[in-house]
Amino acid sequence: MSVENEKIKQRADAVFVGNYNRNPAAFVKGEGCRLIDADGREYLDFLSGIAVCALGHCHPAVTEAIRRQAGELVHVSNLFYTGPQTELAELLVAHTFADKVFFANSGAEANEAAIKLARIASEPGRYEIISLEGSFHGRTLATVAATGQTKFHQGFEPMPEGFVHAPFGNLMVLDNMITDNTCAILCEPLQGESGVRPLSKEYLQGIRALCDRHGLLLIFDEVQTGMGRTGTLFAYEQLGVTPDIMTVAKGLGNGLPIGAMLTTRDIARALAPGTHASTFGGNPVAAAAAVATLEIMLAEGFLAGVRERGLYFSEQLQGLVPRFPNLLSGVRGLGMIWALVLTEAGVVRGTELVRKMFDRGYLINFAGNSALRFVPPLIVTAGEIDRLIAALAEVFAEF
Ligand SMILES: *Cc1c(COP(=O)(O)O)cnc(C)c1O
Repeated sequence: MSVENEKIKQRADAVFVGNYNRNPAAFVKGEGCRLIDADGREYLDFLSGIAVCALGHCHPAVTEAIRRQAGELVHVSNLFYTGPQTELAELLVAHTFADKVFFANSGAEANEAAIKLARIASEPGRYEIISLEGSFHGRTLATVAATGQTKFHQGFEPMPEGFVHAPFGNLMVLDNMITDNTCAILCEPLQGESGVRPLSKEYLQGIRALCDRHGLLLIFDEVQTGMGRTGTLFAYEQLGVTPDIMTVAKGLGNGLPIGAMLTTRDIARALAPGTHASTFGGNPVAAAAAVATLEIMLAEGFLAGVRERGLYFSEQLQGLVPRFPNLLSGVRGLGMIWALVLTEAGVVRGTELVRKMFDRGYLINFAGNSALRFVPPLIVTAGEIDRLIAALAEVFAEF
């Protein structure tokens, strides 16, 4: 049945380090919310490369921008200037609180830049960063140390110093953890990897107030929540809280690897020439893809459409909860990032549920050992949402 998939799987399993638990599909083509595997089987993608291909696979405008730039100039050192990188930085500055941008190649690298900036911009002796339990900030040593989930630390100790984790949702404990060594509080406005857990407005405003009172920098990791995912270009816009430093990556290049760290003019001054760098950061092809992506997201009506269809999606998911109370306990999310929270009996079946959806041709995942996560391309249609809901209902009914 799946001859070509199996051939690639065999070859790949022979040569790759075994750090990924891959599903048995080798993809060869993508268009919008659809993916085609090596045997010609079609899938509806409600993962979008984990919140990366926000405009869908191979969006014509992004593909054209990549083609055009690849024919002009692919790379020069950051010892020189390029147009696409400059244009992208101008767009980000024009549409955020920030005045200054640093480009990296991934979310973890953007967070590394934020961590280094927070330390160097603070008084000597202030180096500690407080992040939250359940958070996810990346897989490099510093970002994994910032990540508030011990399962990501195990076997890699000793962790770099200067990272502590506060219990989720508790402002009083957070306040008590602040010392003379603290330089920043780092958090995601909505925790993606640990099962789509939004931080309430009041909580985020409380964190901002603590930062102001103690002279700390507030860093928002919007690697997953940024680029329209929550229905506004960045999540902070709808929370009434402005960070001092913000990181972005996943959706930024609609599939090309690019990350960014954004901050204010005052704070940015601390990163003087020679303090930080990236060979590939802001690469012209990746930057051109990101400019094309941002222009589409900023066009009249795009984000309003995301919010509208996101609301429809959440209503449809909500409709499943009372039908399958043995498996489902609720719905969490914002904009176009949603989760069906599983009951204890559902959690045991989490991996199996995802696999059964995969077998039916739907890509979703099991996040934080607690919920089924849905992060489709932002352009997903109501019809595609209806198909997913029908497939979910069929799979749930089998249990
Ligand atoms: C995915 C993610 C990261 C890490 O991004 P990479 O590009 O994989 O390094 C960091 N923070 C958050 C919130 C993420 O979702």
